[in-house]
Amino acid sequence: MGFTSDVRTKVLIRSARICCLCFKQCGTKIEVHHIVQEADGGPNTEANALPVCFDCHAEVGNYNPRHPKGTKFRVDELKTRRDNLYKLVESGALLAQVLVKQLPAGTAGKSAEAVNSDIKALPSHAEPDEESREFLKRILKSTTALDALGSKLKILGQDNAAWVLDSLVNRTKESVRPIEVLARLMPSLSNDQKLLAIERTLRNVTLFGETEGKTAVLTEFGGEVLQVSDESLRFAFFRDVFEIVEHDQFDEVNELVPALVGAQECLPEALWADYVKLLINQSGSQSFKGAPAAKRALTKLSKGMVIAGLLALTPEVVCRFGHNQFESVHRLAAQYGDHVDGAQGTVIRDLTTKSWKAFYDKYEPD
Ligand SMILES: [Zn+2]
Repeated sequence: MGFTSDVRTKVLIRSARICCLCFKQCGTKIEVHHIVQEADGGPNTEANALPVCFDCHAEVGNYNPRHPKGTKFRVDELKTRRDNLYKLVESGALLAQVLVKQLPAGTAGKSAEAVNSDIKALPSHAEPDEESREFLKRILKSTTALDALGSKLKILGQDNAAWVLDSLVNRTKESVRPIEVLARLMPSLSNDQKLLAIERTLRNVTLFGETEGKTAVLTEFGGEVLQVSDESLRFAFFRDVFEIVEHDQFDEVNELVPALVGAQECLPEALWADYVKLLINQSGSQSFKGAPAAKRALTKLSKGMVIAGLLALTPEVVCRFGHNQFESVHRLAAQYGDHVDGAQGTVIRDLTTKSWKAFYDKYEPD
């Protein structure tokens, strides 16, 4: 069955997508490998998961626990190397990226002890200078204009800039301002920094953020930026957003639904059907901004999203929606209903031809 998306996400975050064997920043080209293979009884747990690049994956793939002699990597060595990387990332993830690039080439061939002493020899998590602290304080104030932020950050120097970024990301748990600042910085960040900043922010607002923070991530970052993040992380974030909308607190829904609609392009495919159902439900609600936003969004869905939604519109689901939502259901069914066959095809045809009352009478739940 492989690792759950939850385990994968934890590994990707803890490793900052750096290969724990060669210390390459892998971006999307990273894999989560079983240290002890499933076939050999290895569990799908975080403890048995190893973040590695494609090259190193091929190398460790040769490991066979039944014939440990002459193999390249032993289980305890792999675990030590991984935990070393995690420690390095925890000490300041963005800075870690800068540091690991200074690790000498050939790290992959070294023993765990040698890698350990390499890491110890690196400069410790540098303290920022006074200027950088002051700069951070200023940009966190809502009254400070955020012009030319990227070039200002560069003037501070690489290590100080990394510290500022890291501090901003950490504060995304607490308020909206750091999210706004990060969004403004995005265009001037390297791809690696961008990915890391986005994923750590997503994780923070999913685990600790208020609705305001989630709304800010959607509106400030937007779908195009969020698109690059790990799918399982996006899944957890949007699942959470859906739940808030489902509770239908007007204040929250009024802000969140338009923000969600604006970023719908980066929804993982596994959430498309739920998204369509959510919009249909919202389109018949009383929220003064949420309902119109949902109605508008329903006219702008991709073909794939609509079909995923239509397949999920069982009679039971439609009858639960009620009369207010029937217009939206009817319109979607008329749009792409031809693409649905079988028993569900019949239901969709009934949605396009029958009135709400006639549909309900035919399929009325017991
Ligand atoms: Zn590697």
